[in-house]
Amino acid sequence: MKLKCLGAGNEVGRSGFLLYGSDKILFDYGLKLNPKYLNEKSEKVDFEGNVEEPIKITEYLDAVILSHAHLDHSGDIPSLYKKYNPNLFLTQATLDLSSLLWKDTLKIAKYEQKTPPFEKEDMYAAQDSAFFLKLNKPTEITKNSKLTFYDAGHITGSVISVIEMDGKKVMYTGDFRAEESSLFAGYDRNIPEVDYLIIESTYGSENHIPRKKIEEDLIKEIQDTLKKRGMVMLASFAIERSQELISLMHKYKIKAPIYVDGMGVKATDIFLNYPEFFKDYKDFKKSTKEVNFIRNSKIRKSLLRETKPSIIITTAGMLEGGPILLYLKEFGDDPKNKLITTGYQVDGTNGSRLKETGKLFIDGDLYQPRCEIKHASFSGHPGRDELIKFVKKVKPKKVVCVHGDPSSIVDFRKTLEKDGFETIAPMTGEIIDL
Ligand SMILES: [Zn+2]
Ligand SMILES: [Zn+2]
Repeated sequence: MKLKCLGAGNEVGRSGFLLYGSDKILFDYGLKLNPKYLNEKSEKVDFEGNVEEPIKITEYLDAVILSHAHLDHSGDIPSLYKKYNPNLFLTQATLDLSSLLWKDTLKIAKYEQKTPPFEKEDMYAAQDSAFFLKLNKPTEITKNSKLTFYDAGHITGSVISVIEMDGKKVMYTGDFRAEESSLFAGYDRNIPEVDYLIIESTYGSENHIPRKKIEEDLIKEIQDTLKKRGMVMLASFAIERSQELISLMHKYKIKAPIYVDGMGVKATDIFLNYPEFFKDYKDFKKSTKEVNFIRNSKIRKSLLRETKPSIIITTAGMLEGGPILLYLKEFGDDPKNKLITTGYQVDGTNGSRLKETGKLFIDGDLYQPRCEIKHASFSGHPGRDELIKFVKKVKPKKVVCVHGDPSSIVDFRKTLEKDGFETIAPMTGEIIDL
């Protein structure tokens, strides 16, 4: 068996891995956010070239497997449907959430007058080719291959895939989470032992601060601002982080109006349709009753005039557009207000610029907010020790380390090799023997 790395080889973003055996099976096909600020000196921003695609596929595929809906895994799936219509295997929740992102990609491209990576028809073809698999149910997906999904505990619909082909078992983790969060219990501990493991390595060199501590620090920051009668803006990813923040407001009994704006509104509607992924679905449902979802621009306008201390949970998580910039324009000049980013900020994005320089781009102009700025380091990925524990559990003959920055991958491999595992970390474009 061989594996071609089409993206996410010694990088994070645009995941795509093509497995060659009796069948040709593709795991994921995502996009990478890669904004290029071309005119930094003139303090103007140009978003030209802000997404990178994985290496193109021209050959026929026997099956496509999608691990979860995040853009770096699902974002370019429709472009596979320009020429052929390979069967697409995923959970129904993943298709619903991915469709939300695909439509958004088309909308943004139209708005920015750019050529999108795929057309509307390609998206429909992908949707029409979908087969929904349930968790823990081995399914023959081709003449030669059997596929089983296990809960990855990362977001609603996310799975760890195990392919049985040519007498071998290959596991692809996608993104997974080990630690329990307010929404999910973490990955299914009943995963099987396999021959080959393709594993995400996002945090291969570091362990996380315990989630409870991150939660408590965030709540303290929120309470402090509310006490000063300030507004709290939580910059959040639409899929998973927004829902986790909603549930935390309920868990810690925050007494202030809470608003959710941006794509997180529709994503929450979809989450509510799939109780099977939750640790405590009823509790989450209750928490959604305690927040106000902004479903039209009229309500948003009235919120922008709001003076009562409130909390706004909204996209984009890395401040690359979205309603967060509207709120920041309105509330960013008042030192008693606070902006909190709530997740990983990719280099070169507005979020990482703000973290490093205290400035960010709004409508193409550089802006320095006067409100307080904080960062809460929530993560949906396992830390180093959890990754090692996972590998020891599935006992692979070979570990393929992907989806990590080079430094993280080097450390992760060193630790694994000390424990006697054979490892490999392909570059994007490389074909390796399994
Ligand atoms: Zn993910
Ligand atoms: Zn990812």
